[in-house]
Amino acid sequence: MIFRQLFEANSSTYTYLLGDEDSGEAVLIDPVFETARRDQALLGELGMTLQFTLETHCHADHVTAAWLLSRRVGCRIAVSAHAGVAGADKLLRDGDEIAIGSHRLAVRETPGHTDGCLTYVLDDGRMAFTGDALLIRGAGRTDFQGGDARKLYRSVHGKILNLPDDCLLYPGHDYSGRTVTTVREERQFNPRLGGELSEDDFVGYMNNLGLAHPKQIDVAVPANLRCGAPEQESDAPPDPTWAPLTFTYGGIWEVDPAWLEEHRPEVMVLDVRETHEFDGPLGHIPEAELLPLDQLAEKADAISQERPIVTVCRAGGRSAQATVILNKAGFDRVANLSGGMIRWRGLGYPTRGQSGGN
Ligand code: FE
Repeated sequence: MIFRQLFEANSSTYTYLLGDEDSGEAVLIDPVFETARRDQALLGELGMTLQFTLETHCHADHVTAAWLLSRRVGCRIAVSAHAGVAGADKLLRDGDEIAIGSHRLAVRETPGHTDGCLTYVLDDGRMAFTGDALLIRGAGRTDFQGGDARKLYRSVHGKILNLPDDCLLYPGHDYSGRTVTTVREERQFNPRLGGELSEDDFVGYMNNLGLAHPKQIDVAVPANLRCGAPEQESDAPPDPTWAPLTFTYGGIWEVDPAWLEEHRPEVMVLDVRETHEFDGPLGHIPEAELLPLDQLAEKADAISQERPIVTVCRAGGRSAQATVILNKAGFDRVANLSGGMIRWRGLGYPTRGQSGGN
């Protein structure tokens, strides 16, 4: 099983990727709008096909990437039948199961933080994804979106803390860098719900939290009630249109050598190696302009923005950094040549220079 815990820093949200190596099937639990591209890149690099986005609930602090991912990769959207959300492909209820290859994710309804909160339990309870019902040494607030402290207490005790002792619990958020806990730990140490604390103790605690109104609630909830779709389709974040680019999990836009070979005149090929490499055994791409990486930041102002820029180096590492430098300098149509000169030559594309051959 492939498992990744991903983090979105603005809202301290965890997104979880669960994938089955044999079938290549994967799901994302609670993907965030702003990090959709990152998550999509990771799925691509791991060779996974996204089957479903799964929400633990209708979030008030961030917008889900469910709609965006369904539009980009054709996955289906699953949410609680009680979340009041429109536009989902599958409405989940207590006892439902989502298959991920040979693995099973069981749905448990755990209302209380909101009416439509779900906890997802993997296989025989080795891991559970609790959303905001149970946080590490905490619990989600219960003062809006149909929140109810009594319901939450019963959900946590009846549906989460009765999982196996060593079941790993992964929350929807953590605000101090903690990543995982276990049923045993939370039963013993959770300061709101653990130990000998009763339902009335919990209600007293939750009614006196005195929390501020969530910053994003007025934007996030209406959007999440549409599975994260923007009000108008045209408000969706644009994809680069000048070339069929690939975004890497490393955070770099890349272009394929085959595309560059066909479109060389339409772009500026910027080679960021040293002069002796440019004229060395690997040669260089015809029409490439040389500007070594250590001079790029200083000389970026002199580069024309007229055409998109494809950066090139020996193997694609320094040229990746060149895209970062150019983005910082205000260039937005920039991509790295994937695999650099080594791959370019390996594919038999034309070169010039000392031993370029033509
Ligand atoms: Fe929440």
